Amino acid sequence: MKVIFSVEQLAHDPKGFLSSGAPAENPEQPARAQRLLTAALECGLQQEEPQDYGDGVISSVHTARYMQFLQTIHTRWSRIDGASAEVLPNVHPISRQDGYPKSAVGQVGYHVYDGSCPIAAETWHSARWSAMTAAHAAKRVLSGDNTCYALARPPGHHASQDLAGGFCYLNNCAVAAEQLLTKYQRIAVIDVDVHHGNGTQRIFYERSDVLTVSIHADPVRFYPFFWGYADEVGSGEGEGCNKNLPLPRGTGDVDYLKALESALDAVSGYAPDALVVALGLDAHEADPFRGMAITTAGFGKIGEQLGRVGLPAVIVQEGGYLSDALGRNLASFLQGYQAGQ
Ligand SMILES: [Zn+2]
Repeated sequence: MKVIFSVEQLAHDPKGFLSSGAPAENPEQPARAQRLLTAALECGLQQEEPQDYGDGVISSVHTARYMQFLQTIHTRWSRIDGASAEVLPNVHPISRQDGYPKSAVGQVGYHVYDGSCPIAAETWHSARWSAMTAAHAAKRVLSGDNTCYALARPPGHHASQDLAGGFCYLNNCAVAAEQLLTKYQRIAVIDVDVHHGNGTQRIFYERSDVLTVSIHADPVRFYPFFWGYADEVGSGEGEGCNKNLPLPRGTGDVDYLKALESALDAVSGYAPDALVVALGLDAHEADPFRGMAITTAGFGKIGEQLGRVGLPAVIVQEGGYLSDALGRNLASFLQGYQAGQ
């Protein structure tokens, strides 16, 4: 298996975010990617640089206006007297049908829906290479690799067509799925990050060519709060093509693996041609978010179950924050996945 990674993804180095209203150190640090890369290479994966496929692979998912915003907002923001070093929102529309403001401050409120997506000079560049990493992994699978691991960073599953949130700017899993759809008819995205994959859900909510399944800590008391409930099943053509499996805070291996079985039943019922795995490692018992209590061995079992599906697959890195176990958790997942195949 190959690990796709570009050092360009390390330039994005966010400093702050708001945690329960308080300024805090941003946990989505470049060191995460370095630790994950070391673990992937120690597992025997071969490193490959992504190619630049141009902005078209991104505009298959995101609006032109949003891409323009991400590329220009930091420069425009920097011209405002007394503005913060990193772009952060302080005003939001009641509804996004309210009209599109001309002002930089207004546009930040329109496109960034929470306090965890600071934008600095390098953010677009790194997010773009993160998307290229996912696109490259998908193209590898299209040209015959059975499985490919995209070490994508910043992560993507909270970002939708024109919204950034939850440390995510561009939706890498959706980019991978769109690439796979150039050859395959039906794709299943299965999201094992501890947080609900609300961006991915939103992107494909009204479509029947992509099944989205997410297992996550119950949003009743956990980010992203507004989405991730079991009654969100898709709408229109997409009705029945979204499945959410919210689990209680603190869920451990045994109950998680039961939920995964039910998620995989939904996947096999859908009969997809290929799989995208949104691989968050933040359900681990030592992850700073403390949403669940999955063990390192548990990630091996999750990987094994997913590997058994036996479909061509792109594994896309999502969350998983700095702890001593981060690298071991990835290694355990990848070894389990390969054993399951
Ligand atoms: Zn997460």
